[in-house]
Amino acid sequence: MILKFKKNILKHSEIFGTNVFNESNFKQYLNKESYNNLIEVIDKGGKISKSLADQIAAAMKSWAISKEVTHYSHWFQPLTGNTAEKHDAFFEISSDGYPLEKFDGAQLAQQEPDASSFPSGGIRNTFEARGYTAWDPSSPAFIFDTTLCIPTIFVSYTGEALDYKTPLLKSIASLDSAATSVCKFFDKNVSKVYPTLGWEQEYFLIDKSLMDSRPDLKLTGRTLLGHGSSKGQQLSDHYFGSIPNRVLEFMKELEYECLRLGIPIKTRHNEVAPSQFELAPIHEEVNLSVDHNSLLMDIMYKVAYKHDLEVLFHEKPFDGINGSGKHNNWSLATNTGVNLLSPGKTPMSNLQFLTFFINTISAVLEHEELLRACIASASNDLRLGANEAPPAILSVFIGEQLTKVIEDLKNVSKGKLSPEEKTDLKLNVIGKIPEILLDNTDRNRTSPFAFTGNKFEFRAVGSKANCAKPMTFLNAMVAEQLISFKVKVDDLISKKNMKKDDAIFNILRDQIKKIKPILFEGDGYSDSWIKEAKKRNLSHNKSTPESLESYIQVKSIKLFSSLNILSKREIEARYIVDLQEYIMRIQIEARTLGDISRNHIIPTAIKYQNTLIENVKGIKEIYGSDYKKYANEQMSLIKRISEHIAAINSGVNLMIESRKKANKISNDHKKALEYSNKVLTKMNPIRYHCDKLELLVDNTLWPLAKYRELLFSC
Ligand code: ADP
Ligand code: MG
Repeated sequence: MILKFKKNILKHSEIFGTNVFNESNFKQYLNKESYNNLIEVIDKGGKISKSLADQIAAAMKSWAISKEVTHYSHWFQPLTGNTAEKHDAFFEISSDGYPLEKFDGAQLAQQEPDASSFPSGGIRNTFEARGYTAWDPSSPAFIFDTTLCIPTIFVSYTGEALDYKTPLLKSIASLDSAATSVCKFFDKNVSKVYPTLGWEQEYFLIDKSLMDSRPDLKLTGRTLLGHGSSKGQQLSDHYFGSIPNRVLEFMKELEYECLRLGIPIKTRHNEVAPSQFELAPIHEEVNLSVDHNSLLMDIMYKVAYKHDLEVLFHEKPFDGINGSGKHNNWSLATNTGVNLLSPGKTPMSNLQFLTFFINTISAVLEHEELLRACIASASNDLRLGANEAPPAILSVFIGEQLTKVIEDLKNVSKGKLSPEEKTDLKLNVIGKIPEILLDNTDRNRTSPFAFTGNKFEFRAVGSKANCAKPMTFLNAMVAEQLISFKVKVDDLISKKNMKKDDAIFNILRDQIKKIKPILFEGDGYSDSWIKEAKKRNLSHNKSTPESLESYIQVKSIKLFSSLNILSKREIEARYIVDLQEYIMRIQIEARTLGDISRNHIIPTAIKYQNTLIENVKGIKEIYGSDYKKYANEQMSLIKRISEHIAAINSGVNLMIESRKKANKISNDHKKALEYSNKVLTKMNPIRYHCDKLELLVDNTLWPLAKYRELLFSC
């Protein structure tokens, strides 16, 4: 008899969320009342009673133990941008000496990790190192590596935020309240608006053993030297080619792990540069999506390791090769299932769409410098404006069709509108916005902030970044803008006795008249745009230290403090944290380059030079005074090697001198500027000579994996 086995292949939908303590688990493990209470807190915020917390903790514990989990951990995102965990076992000894598993509401709600090793920007006093993590019920607990992870916020003993999630949650609440009030102009049934995020994560994969030969990649995430490979990305064969087998195996395992953790991965593909790839999920509510991106990056490191690969999230790991970004697709959704940035079927729904669309653009115009600052980092500086990524100038792309709509709306009469004008507007302007703009929008790849049919795509975000920061900043500025819009519309209605529609048209018209400077449809990579942007008074802060200053501008502090997202002290602390991170990154790079040049490159060059010297001596022995005829090339090589060595040596000395000078500066801003203008600029000349030596020295002696090996290793 022939036995036929059914192949046991699980569908993605069957794997999805199996390691997440989600709504169906709440239902299974909680009684009806507790379930309802918890859902209400998740939807509307509010406090969870001690007894409910105990019930939830008990439920989580049973569920986790049934899945062979032994530990729990509060999982948070400190200002390093990475994730942090402190694992505790469920295991305890009872007062009468019996071993048992324990996990209660207090342990679920709060933990006290030592905050002293996380950046605080001066908020945490040395005598008070304690920090608290507190459970965020709006992001579900999950199991990772036999540990039950509980997403939490992280605050200081005095209550100030020490993480990315706290202000993010506050910005979401502000935006919800502001956007819901505006929605009520159009639909009274809207009671909640939540921002949505779909990120697109770009990354490189490198063979682990090759990576091990590169201290620069290991310590700084990028190659500080290395001559370009003769074949790079010029043929575009990687982008259009099939995914290499080894990488596909990595991707499959990664997707399996992601799906189990409820990360709705949807897309995978090769990117432009060799060894560069991208993955993207289905969009989710911002808080969850941010958590999922942070978790994803952790999982990627671990899965890559199993496949003898290393994943690079750095924005510019290779000179002369495209870097990586993380487009943040952002929109607003209502509890009634409407995407507010998607045109609708009726003129009224289109007026609602235009309201949110134009207010978002106004917000970006008002805070363009701050929006650029929130994606600033030492690594992203190397990518922005590098003819492959958006420039360090913020502008908004909206496409031809919407440009036309906006032009038409600019001509709306001031004051009350005649019935004819209103009908004309509804029929011929907003009524003409096609329901689906997606296919009609010209996808301008050079824009840092592009409208792509039903969402804005913030493209300047770096691949390494924690999405929480750009999302917090964007939510905050749009919330502020919507609040001001509502006040103005209400004023026209109450003081000028205008109809609601007329008032909205009037305010939108005024806004449209002001937003022109931020709208740009042309080539963001061109030099003419830089000149044009200057004329338009748009900021162009090329480096992180210059850019970060906008954190502490009066209007930024007002933005965050008036919405209760970050106090003045908290935003100032973040300014310091980001400046210090910048300084440390450049410092580490400069030291690493100095070490590699002196410990790897110069000794290797000398070794090769010695063989050349031996060679010349041998030739002389054979040919006597005629030797130069046969040793000419070798002698010129010997000379060139010496010249490069001398140049490297003096370059490293100069770089060390400037570092010493910079280190004496106590003001963080001045120090970061010095690192940017005086230390970073000393690195390229050193690299230049090292790379020249790479071309001269015997390949078998070269101690570092070369670009051609690193980039074609998968
Ligand atoms: P593409 O831009 O490549 O044509 P999509 O438009 O489907 O593809 O989506 C690209 C990214 O945009 C994905 O990460 C997706 O999650 C995200 N996205 C799609 N719709 C939304 C939305 N309403 N809000 C936030 N992100 C979205
Ligand atoms: Mg995209």
